Amino acid sequence: APVIGVLALQGDVREHLTALTGAGAQARPVRRSAELDAVDGLIIPGGESTTISKLVDIFELRGPIDKRISAGMPVYGSCAGMIMLAAEVLDGRPDQRGFDGIAMTVRRNAFGRQVDSFEAPVQITGIDGGPLHAVFIRAPWVERVGADVEILGTVAEGPATGRVVAVRQGNLLATSFHPELTGDLRLHAHFVDMVRTAT
Ligand code: GLN
Repeated sequence: APVIGVLALQGDVREHLTALTGAGAQARPVRRSAELDAVDGLIIPGGESTTISKLVDIFELRGPIDKRISAGMPVYGSCAGMIMLAAEVLDGRPDQRGFDGIAMTVRRNAFGRQVDSFEAPVQITGIDGGPLHAVFIRAPWVERVGADVEILGTVAEGPATGRVVAVRQGNLLATSFHPELTGDLRLHAHFVDMVRTAT
């Protein structure tokens, strides 16, 4: 089974470890660069991107993670993890910094107070069996994507209809929502397949 790490500095690490294990991976928390060296893929969990950004520097993981990304390691970012994978962040804190990730602009806390947290079905390209039940918690959305970025999913109903909430560029995958909170393992299984294909 592919070994997949979950960046374990802040956020819902345990839920991703459980979902990865259920999806057939060998899942491990990653806090040090030696632990990063031992994984074939990485998940950046939901949480608070400003805090994760700070801790990435404190734990001296920024350089090592950027290096693995440019070497082709698959990375999946959910919510705050999506923000960490974005080349540009709107409504971010001036000192927050992401990885050398996806050519996209995301807006932090985009859905606004009326729909601070909500759930909606999202059909994801490449995932069979009907739409995912997507849980959004102070989530970002994707405002612009570069030419190499594939849009995998948009919100299908409610006030945010049409907003881009799932993308892929090469081996990098990002969603605004939290599949790790639903018990539906399809998105994690999809990422495990990406890791299998890459290694
Ligand atoms: N609002 C958070 C951020 O800016 C993301 C929320 C989440 O990950 N659920 O990082």
